[in-house]
Amino acid sequence: MDLQTPISKASRAYAMYARRLEKLGIVKLEDFLFHIPFRYDDYSLISKINLVQAGEIVTIQGTIDEIKNQYTRRYKTIQKAILSDDSGKMDVLWFNQPFLTRVVKIGDKISLSGKVTLNKNKLIMQSPTYEVIRSSTYEAESGSQTIHTGRLVPVYPETRGVSSKWLRRQIFKLLEQKNEIEEYLPQNLLKENSLMNLQEALEKIHFPKNLEEAQKAKKRLAFDELFDLQLSSLIRKKAWEKETIKKVWEIKNFKEKIENFIKKLPFELTNSQKNATEEILKDLSSEKAMNRLLEGDVGSGKTIVGAISMYAAFLNGYKSLMMAPTEILANQHFKTLSAVFSPLGVNIELVSGSKKKIENKEFDILIGTHAIIYSKENFKNVGLVIIDEQQRFGVEQRSKIREKGENVHLLTMTATPIPRTVALTMYGDLDLSILSEMPKGRKLVKTWLVPPVKRNGAYGWIEKQVNKNKDQVFIICPFIEESESMQTVKAATKEYERLQKEVFPKLNLGLLHGKMKSNEKDKILKSFRSGKMDILVSTPVVEVGIDIPNATIMLIEEAERFGLSQLHQLRGRVGRSDKQSYCLLFTSSKNESTIERLKSLEKTYSGAELAELDLKLRGPGQVYGTIQHGLPQLKVASFSDFELIEKTKKEAQKIFSEIDKYPTLIEKANQISLKKISPD
Ligand code: ADP
Ligand code: MG
Repeated sequence: MDLQTPISKASRAYAMYARRLEKLGIVKLEDFLFHIPFRYDDYSLISKINLVQAGEIVTIQGTIDEIKNQYTRRYKTIQKAILSDDSGKMDVLWFNQPFLTRVVKIGDKISLSGKVTLNKNKLIMQSPTYEVIRSSTYEAESGSQTIHTGRLVPVYPETRGVSSKWLRRQIFKLLEQKNEIEEYLPQNLLKENSLMNLQEALEKIHFPKNLEEAQKAKKRLAFDELFDLQLSSLIRKKAWEKETIKKVWEIKNFKEKIENFIKKLPFELTNSQKNATEEILKDLSSEKAMNRLLEGDVGSGKTIVGAISMYAAFLNGYKSLMMAPTEILANQHFKTLSAVFSPLGVNIELVSGSKKKIENKEFDILIGTHAIIYSKENFKNVGLVIIDEQQRFGVEQRSKIREKGENVHLLTMTATPIPRTVALTMYGDLDLSILSEMPKGRKLVKTWLVPPVKRNGAYGWIEKQVNKNKDQVFIICPFIEESESMQTVKAATKEYERLQKEVFPKLNLGLLHGKMKSNEKDKILKSFRSGKMDILVSTPVVEVGIDIPNATIMLIEEAERFGLSQLHQLRGRVGRSDKQSYCLLFTSSKNESTIERLKSLEKTYSGAELAELDLKLRGPGQVYGTIQHGLPQLKVASFSDFELIEKTKKEAQKIFSEIDKYPTLIEKANQISLKKISPD
């Protein structure tokens, strides 16, 4: 079977799993092989029954003498079995798996792995992993082909309805079919870096004989992962360098106008903003197309830097497009930028999922969601494209919006505080400007992790703050699933009703979620912005970009469900004026490491540090939260492995210098650069 076959077409059985597998990133057969175990259970100790001791984790193999269901009270069941080999017998117990008696029958040869315990002076195995052995493999003395027992057993990231055991079977089947997995790296590169070939690495990452083998396989796959990223970024960079601007922009002669524009702003630019503006204006006066990433922590003031660039475009008679990931954010940009630009006779238009029509085709600036990409409108004379919160868009969407103009300057903006090394790996094709400071007068957002017993106290304190200072409050309910499903909306609605009725009956509360109609969202936000509403209960839709300076209290429910970077983003919704702001994190988790992770927000205010911590703490398989993070999900390699990052960078450059020799590599790198690395 061709490994490129989509899961939905591979077989009827697979088709049923397609949606679930997609959650794990498995869309074609080959992806199974690249679904990497995050640990191994060591069941390699195979023992005769009479040698087994209490407390041991072992594998025993023998014949099933007895197996039956026993019904207990409350409709629970126990499966009782006896396994014997030529040395003795062992009692085995499972709980609530009545189907087992259909799968495992008396007389079956079976292999069991698990912990042996002492129960009423008798050794017993409880809930072991089981595997019926095909007789031929059982007879064979060595090299038994068990995959769930009697060896190092791979454990995978799972999702509902897709267990490690099931995945293991599929992966084993695919490997057994000896599908040719093409080696795409040159042999001498493999040799110089002592890497095993790809086929072998894939076999051994899943079914290693020992941990050393697994380690070696991992080394190869980690190399690939970073190497591919580096190479595709080099290829993109080269492609970009071909982009030249037809009519070079005039910046020098407009210098005074631009300075006046900046002077009229209600605040003075920070030094970082000044530097970034200078770098951008320099790019804009070049004949090469700008490709710059503006990185700055939440609240550092990226929007206005973007606005200055758009003003330069306007002065040159070019249109600007600015794309934001959510409708709420697009609306907000539209409002703030309208205020800045309208007095100057600059025409601003808005387009989004619910406002598709562009009134004035002769606009100077078009703000919108990804609806811009799909707009049928033929934009003439676009000179600048800005992508806000670029981590929220896939590479494909990013390149699509660029195609709306010809030889455009591109400015992307992100608050994802990517460690510098990572930025250079991931976005090696971009130039980088960093806003490293906050506007003057900002105070750190006081952050507390609030234990459950202090919940009511916290509510009381909030009410006082609102009454005393007219403070405004966000209360965030988490996503229950990976994105904003109806389930999340229901939970948030319920919480809103509870808070309004039982906790803050005297205050004015509002509810905001992503499933609302656009004009409803607008109405709610307007009322909050104007101060008519005291508390806004919301799903994490407010996470990116929302700017309501008078809001000073952020309360986050079930904070453990968020990554640190995401919590930092949410916290960034307050602390946007010179008033003291607060962030209260609620969790009912008692897990020590979770508590410690959340407590790091009490002490750490740097987005970059938190991002780095996030990378360190996030175990593989915890896909949840990574998605919002915007970094590609590395499966094997780690962004903190600077040595490997350096090494793969060198190798990628070497290969790139003679890339024409490696057509398969070009193809592969192109595939990677087109992969969507974050959802909308
Ligand atoms: P982000 O970088 O998160 O996109 P914004 O551009 O939304 O931040 O800016 C956050 C807030 O700070 C806005 O209300 C903006 O008007 C304000 N702001 C931006 N630059 C400055 C500055 N130099 N001094 C004071 N306030 C500023
Ligand atoms: Mg922003």
